Amino acid sequence: MTVLVERDNIGIFGKMNAGKSSVMNLLTQQETSIVDSTPGTTSDTKISLHEIHGIGPVRIFDTAGINELSELGEKKRKKVMSDLKETNLVLLVIDPSTSDFNAEAELLKEARELDRQIIIIYNIFSDEDKSRINEVEEKLALLRFHKKILIKANESSFRRQLLDFILENYEPENPLMDLLPFIERDRYYILVIPMDVETPPGRYLRPQAMTEEYITRHWAYPVSFRLDLASARGDDPDAEKKRFLALINGLAEKPRCIITDSQAMDIMSKWCPDDIDLTTFSIVMINYMSGGKLSNFVKGVEAADNLKSGDSILIAEACNHSRVGEDIGTVQIPALVEKIYPGVKVEHNFGREFQDNSELEKYSLIIHCGGCMISRQKMTARIRDLDAVGVPYTNYGIFLSAVNGRAALRKVVKPWGIEI
Ligand code: SF4
Repeated sequence: MTVLVERDNIGIFGKMNAGKSSVMNLLTQQETSIVDSTPGTTSDTKISLHEIHGIGPVRIFDTAGINELSELGEKKRKKVMSDLKETNLVLLVIDPSTSDFNAEAELLKEARELDRQIIIIYNIFSDEDKSRINEVEEKLALLRFHKKILIKANESSFRRQLLDFILENYEPENPLMDLLPFIERDRYYILVIPMDVETPPGRYLRPQAMTEEYITRHWAYPVSFRLDLASARGDDPDAEKKRFLALINGLAEKPRCIITDSQAMDIMSKWCPDDIDLTTFSIVMINYMSGGKLSNFVKGVEAADNLKSGDSILIAEACNHSRVGEDIGTVQIPALVEKIYPGVKVEHNFGREFQDNSELEKYSLIIHCGGCMISRQKMTARIRDLDAVGVPYTNYGIFLSAVNGRAALRKVVKPWGIEI
């Protein structure tokens, strides 16, 4: 079965001027990063996408040095630590000619706590540096646990050696994930797409496009149905329901599953025939982006039962799309919360960066979108943060199913082999 492949993240870390950008350029074979002996030349993380034979598609991060003592330096440090959470393989670049290794100690400790794979790169500027490595290892006792290589990062002849060393010592982590593990060849799948004012012209949203492509690729038949949500929710929904059922009944065979936009769960939970499975695009995406941790999000929605006036919940979206009309995150879910959980405050977090753990702790529940615009590593890092602070989290599709009753929730998780 064909599966989608995610990129592994390789992060280059170390203090200022250790030669991180030279390592980046060595790996990418181009001037991706500016190499300058002025400390702090890399002011923000640079990202390069590559295919490394033997590993597959990778995303290489060249991060800023974390030992810059200024207000800006502190901001850079936070960004580097956030990058570390997303990294599968940490390349820690050490210049043995220096004497203060606090930055390396901090990076090493954090990377180990996050269970990251770590490779140490001693960047040798002169032969004298080699004799100082024992001294470095005495100061950084944790180094003894990790594989090391000595290179001259600014000499391109070391590229092959470095790549071979990485291939030998790195176990690619990105699991091959099925987007829709329940797809069966030659079966019909109905995609319910309301196409409201937020829908961009000329293309489907990423979860819709991925789902359609996946079903086709697996020799099954995706059939799209544009649902008129306003009519379906209006005074006379029968005409819209008739149109929907005519499509289903007109197919040569009963569809195997209906995959709907989550915001239409109030309609689809009632219209979907009992003998056809149902799930949502948001659930498809969160399962895929979280590396199969859908059950965590299903468990998290139980926290909604205990919400009380004065509690705060966070609606988290991993992108900053333009918000017009009855936007799901800013209008529809807040309106539902107000109606079902009076007095519960709703806050929002939009975009790629998530909040510090200390802020997350104040929420009684996090409701996350499908997360299609961030990497799986970033989503996994978010989950790890939330697990660490013990804040329950759920997802748009699960929440919008749960508010339509236990039976609706049970139905949308059933295709995933989850029983509640
Ligand atoms: S990142 Fe979230 S809000 Fe943005 S398009 Fe993807 S699922 Fe929707």
